[in-house]
Amino acid sequence: MTETENNLKPRIGVFSLTGCAGDQLMILNLEDTLIELLSKFDIKSFQEASSYSENTNLDIAFVEGSVSTEHDLKTLKNIREKSSLLIAIGDCAVNGCVQAMRNKQTSIAERMIDVYGVEDNIYKTFEPKGVGEYVKVDFEIPGCPIEKEEALNALISLLNGDAPLIPDYPVCVECKLNGYPCVIIEEGKPCLGPIITAGCDARCPGLGLDCVGCRGPIKGETNAKAELEALRKRGYADKYIINRLRFFAGNFDDIQILGVKENSKGDK
Ligand code: SF4
Ligand code: SF4
Repeated sequence: MTETENNLKPRIGVFSLTGCAGDQLMILNLEDTLIELLSKFDIKSFQEASSYSENTNLDIAFVEGSVSTEHDLKTLKNIREKSSLLIAIGDCAVNGCVQAMRNKQTSIAERMIDVYGVEDNIYKTFEPKGVGEYVKVDFEIPGCPIEKEEALNALISLLNGDAPLIPDYPVCVECKLNGYPCVIIEEGKPCLGPIITAGCDARCPGLGLDCVGCRGPIKGETNAKAELEALRKRGYADKYIINRLRFFAGNFDDIQILGVKENSKGDK
């Protein structure tokens, strides 16, 4: 490979903020195609794959993890400044994920006491949020973690100059396409499928389980109120439903506007 050939390849970087690094791992899990796929790109940084890292301008930056610390924010702004496209990968980067589940409910000091027994914010954290809360994001690939096929398709699309195709419909659609029985209707399970972004091929209902929402709410299209009513009718308490919604999407705006009794009693 000559230097000129290398210069024609899109320069990419894959970065982590606060999270488990599972989305980078899903890219690495593309074992069958990984070598060929990545040979089409000029990889300037890929934290989980190599200690090599070049601080340079990029065509595409993939960012996983939530913005939870001053260090995250500084890193993110630096990535945004030097990248033509910034793609948020995984629920942490898109919605804040599990670390955001208590946002607007408890203070950082209260959480520090609960977890570490001290009030001091020793890690200088603030309320975790997705990267789109701080910088312009060009595309989002949801999931906790992302689907590796979705990562593959996104990389191929980008290589061809196309936008990655991300479903804008709910998990229920995939459930119906697969002919799975609805676990809300048949079994009264508290499935979040009606308001969660598809793309997992309805994995959990396919196993007879209810969707817990790991791909996050469909942005701008979610009828959380209807979901709330559907689960209330089946005997679930507001607090239980809201906690489920919060599990992967504590920053999901619709939760704040539902006006439900978050302190209502009820374990179901
Ligand atoms: S099982 Fe869940 S995802 Fe499937 S149709 Fe019912 S509500 Fe939708
Ligand atoms: S069904 Fe729901 S919880 Fe299960 S993988 Fe899909 S989005 Fe995630």
